[in-house]
Amino acid sequence: MTARKKVIDLLASAPGQEVLAKGWVRTKRGNKEIAFIALNDGSTIHNIQVVVDKTAIDPALLAKITTGACIAVHGDLVESPGSGQAVEIKASEIEVYGECDPVRYPLQKKDTSFEYLRTVAHLRPRTNTFGAVLRLRSQMAFAIHEYFHSKGFVYLNTPLITAADAEGAGNMFQVATLDMNNIPRDKKGLPDYSKDFFGRRTSLTVSGQLEGELGATALGEIYTFGPTFRAENSNTPRHLAEFWMIEPEMAFYDIRDNMDLAEDFIKSLVKYALDNCLDDVKFLNDRYDPELLARLQGVVDTEFVRLGYTEGIEILKAAEADGHKFEESVSWGMDLQSEHERFLVEQHFNKPVILTDYPKDIKAFYMKQNDDGKTVRAMDVLFPKIGEIIGGSEREASYEKLQARIDELHMSHRTLEWYLDTRRFGTCPHSGFGLGFERLLLFITGMQNIRDVIPFPRTPKNAEF
Ligand code: ATP
Ligand code: MN
Repeated sequence: MTARKKVIDLLASAPGQEVLAKGWVRTKRGNKEIAFIALNDGSTIHNIQVVVDKTAIDPALLAKITTGACIAVHGDLVESPGSGQAVEIKASEIEVYGECDPVRYPLQKKDTSFEYLRTVAHLRPRTNTFGAVLRLRSQMAFAIHEYFHSKGFVYLNTPLITAADAEGAGNMFQVATLDMNNIPRDKKGLPDYSKDFFGRRTSLTVSGQLEGELGATALGEIYTFGPTFRAENSNTPRHLAEFWMIEPEMAFYDIRDNMDLAEDFIKSLVKYALDNCLDDVKFLNDRYDPELLARLQGVVDTEFVRLGYTEGIEILKAAEADGHKFEESVSWGMDLQSEHERFLVEQHFNKPVILTDYPKDIKAFYMKQNDDGKTVRAMDVLFPKIGEIIGGSEREASYEKLQARIDELHMSHRTLEWYLDTRRFGTCPHSGFGLGFERLLLFITGMQNIRDVIPFPRTPKNAEF
């Protein structure tokens, strides 16, 4: 009995051995005497070529071997006379595990648009493109864990169900088990959450940061890596309702240390992709985006620009005065839109930019307040093609200042008492940031739409599969 070998290993094996391959048929072509089957098992972007002698195979069996069918092939691994591959399998026996009706199979050559493929998201992993993207996604997740592990960060799991609103943005999905047809009411007629599962109003988390700070102020350096949920109705190519976030949080880091880490982290990840996943990146480069490889190498090689928000606004205003049209016109205090971020990165500096010291009114309550009374020690990392890829800050370490800000924003203390204990008891300077995993993948894969870098995207009006 020959053991099954994955295609990636077969392609790297020496000819002259008996092999067993299993996978899905990508294409079948040939002439009267020979059939060529391109077989893929998801282990690599490359197919192994299977050569079948038509005179030695039952024609009924051969007819079942169509695009999408699943087969097992016994044969000899031989040197390939054709160009394009070093080795191929000369089939001696083929078993068909699963036929695939060529008429009804939803993956057809005639429609391979990304829009169409989203409607068959349950099958699109079988395409070359999604195979490449999903392998990259997995590799990058591993690279992230490895990066932090090598630096001694503790991987902290923060809860997905929470009673706090980290961003104060109010775009949370509620979690409830109350009977929707018969909601218990309090005296004011409002839903009575004391009767709900947790005895209080709860939601899916928008960020693990608040709990991350609890970890950092005990363990020193932590990171989270998990799903987050935002019920924001932003139907953009850069927003999902369910996305994954990596949130490192570090005691004794000031904003500068935080920027240094963010820059080193993201460069290491891009470098990892170039060093370890070149086949898939190259496939995406050649198929869709001929500047992808250069863009990735560019990020690894350049020092990021570090710039204050106020200076950034000046640059954007100057561009406007020069005749550049933005959809939303520029003024100090505004939340920058992707068009502004990309102007700075792609047109003005032509490299990634870390923008700091944003107006406090457009940032979350926990950010360290600057002495000017107007800005906070925030830092957003802005990337070509993406805009914001990382959002972070040095955190306000002073109990009094944090308390004052919470009051100023009329936020409820009740759900934040545990968080405020970090400042009450042994507070320390600390910083952290959040990297959107899918935004990173947009950059690394060169894909245009965030729905195409997650296996099963969740967006407004879309939760199929
Ligand atoms: P944006 O302004 O682009 O909506 P944000 O300011 O809301 O981003 P943060 O709250 O700082 O983002 O979240 C940290 C990171 O999480 C962002 O830099 C981005 O990479 C990612 N992110 C935020 N919202 C989404 C989303 N809806 N879908 C995918 N990734 C997101
Ligand atoms: Mn947002």
